Amino acid sequence: MTKRPAFDVAVLGAGMVGVASAIHLARRGASVVLVDRRGPGEETSHGNAGIIQREGVHPYLFPRSPLKLVQYAMNLRPEAHYQLASLPAVAPFLWRYWRASAPGQARRTLAANIPLFAACLETHGELAAEAGAEALIARQGWLRLLRAPAAVAEAQVQLAELRALGLDAVLLSPSETGRLEPHLATGELAGAVHYRDPWTVSDPGALVRAYARLFERLGGTIRQADASKARRDGGHWRIGDGLVAGRIVVALGPWSKAFLAARGLKLPMGVKRGYHRHYRPAGAGVLNRPVVDDANGFVLAPMAAGIRLTTGAEFARLEAPATPVQLARCLPIARRLFDLGEPVEAEAWLGARPVMPDMLPVIGEAPGLPGAFLNFGHAHHGFTLGPASGRLLAQMMAGETPFCDPSPYSAGRFL
Ligand SMILES: Cc1cc2nc3c(=O)[nH]c(=O)nc-3n(C[C@H](O)[C@H](O)[C@H](O)COP(=O)(O)OP(=O)(O)OC[C@H]3O[C@@H](n4cnc5c(N)ncnc54)[C@H](O)[C@@H]3O)c2cc1C
Repeated sequence: MTKRPAFDVAVLGAGMVGVASAIHLARRGASVVLVDRRGPGEETSHGNAGIIQREGVHPYLFPRSPLKLVQYAMNLRPEAHYQLASLPAVAPFLWRYWRASAPGQARRTLAANIPLFAACLETHGELAAEAGAEALIARQGWLRLLRAPAAVAEAQVQLAELRALGLDAVLLSPSETGRLEPHLATGELAGAVHYRDPWTVSDPGALVRAYARLFERLGGTIRQADASKARRDGGHWRIGDGLVAGRIVVALGPWSKAFLAARGLKLPMGVKRGYHRHYRPAGAGVLNRPVVDDANGFVLAPMAAGIRLTTGAEFARLEAPATPVQLARCLPIARRLFDLGEPVEAEAWLGARPVMPDMLPVIGEAPGLPGAFLNFGHAHHGFTLGPASGRLLAQMMAGETPFCDPSPYSAGRFL
């Protein structure tokens, strides 16, 4: 007879997605161990722009304009960059991403996003209240800056779609934008969209840590260990010495692909790497909410540590050396918008968004791996969607009726 494992479930990875999954499983009475080689929330879930993007249902698509494609190919634009040496490794993903960005799949992704994003505020709200972390959250929305009349016209189409979904977003003139953000230079703008539903977080890593403490209060266990040797053993999963669980949840963010490939499950995940660095405001300048420079792909987000400048996507191997050229390109543009002083850190932070070609996460059972479940690939929105997708996965694992149809997120769509 096989011995009962020490834990019902081991959640591998303590980013926003893993921590939230662990909480929702523990709430359902499972004994859960959360395993990470670092502390909770120290990787991608620490370094993001901190926006809980209630409005973020439209997928980021591979651009189709010939002019933009030529500029991307020549690495001329600040919002995207690729490392030439990584090109052979990332090209297969880019090809799948391009194909999945065709209008038909983009519409399917939008439809599949709607119920998950609809749950993001409620699921964060309940965790933040229970964790006593509400002071980290602001509820003033964020601003998308538009630099050209064509961008304003495009935004109007998107706004109509968002309003049809019951979302609150308004188009502002440059002077209205300036009234909301008096220290922002609006002279180069054609307008802005104020998304008023989303919440923003002043220290994303701290929010994950607060949720992790809540998980411990619910009876959960946190272990610092490398999960890369986890293996099936006697009907259970052995993660390491003395660490045995009946089932595992793979929530390893950008590292999920390699973990699964080593166990025979090959999924077409890529990464969009991103950088950030904090700057002190020069003088008495205040930024009340994150502003996103749409044309240049960067965000200026007011954080506890300073104004966080985050970059768009870098296409390179996950472990390739840092090349923060986008930060260097965006900084002078950002400085024209807001008076940034000295950098806070000596070096830029580098992280990687885990992305599937169709920009949808993978949530559900792992095909061919008994007792393994998946929750990763949330791309630009893992911080937003961690609690909602954690709830969905826990419902599936507990045999409850899931709050939305999970089939669009199944790993089987790639097999
Ligand atoms: C610049 C930037 C800006 C962003 N802005 C936003 C935003 O405003 N809003 C938003 O919603 N999203 C944003 N994102 C995306 C978001 O940060 C990610 O989607 C999200 O953090 C992914 O969370 P995760 O839990 O899946 O992964 P992670 O947070 O990376 O967690 C994975 C965990 O797995 C652990 N791990 C890896 N390998 C092992 C191993 N072998 N053994 C044990 N543990 C291991 C890691 O230590 C890590 O803690 C942004 C991302 C970037 C890069």
